[in-house]
Amino acid sequence: MPTYDFICKKCSHKFSEFVSLREKGNVKCPICGGNVEQLFTDFMYVGKGGSGGSGSGGCSGGCGGCSGCR
Ligand SMILES: [Zn+2]
Repeated sequence: MPTYDFICKKCSHKFSEFVSLREKGNVKCPICGGNVEQLFTDFMYVGKGGSGGSGSGGCSGGCGGCSGCR
C-alpha cells in the first residue's frame, strides 16, 4: 500500500498519509495545516549503513561493530 510518511515543517508532527503521487505536493499537516516534508524512512536506514562496515562515514561512532569504531 503506497502510504507515505510526512513530517510537518512547522510543528514537527509526523504522520502517514495515503496519497497518490500527484497529491503528494498538496499534503498539509492535519494538526496545524502547515507545509510538510516527505520522510524517506527506508532511505535513511540504508544511509545509516545498518549492516555496517563499509568503512568511513556510515557510523557516527560508538556502535562497536563497524570497522570505523574498532
Ligand atoms: Zn503541523
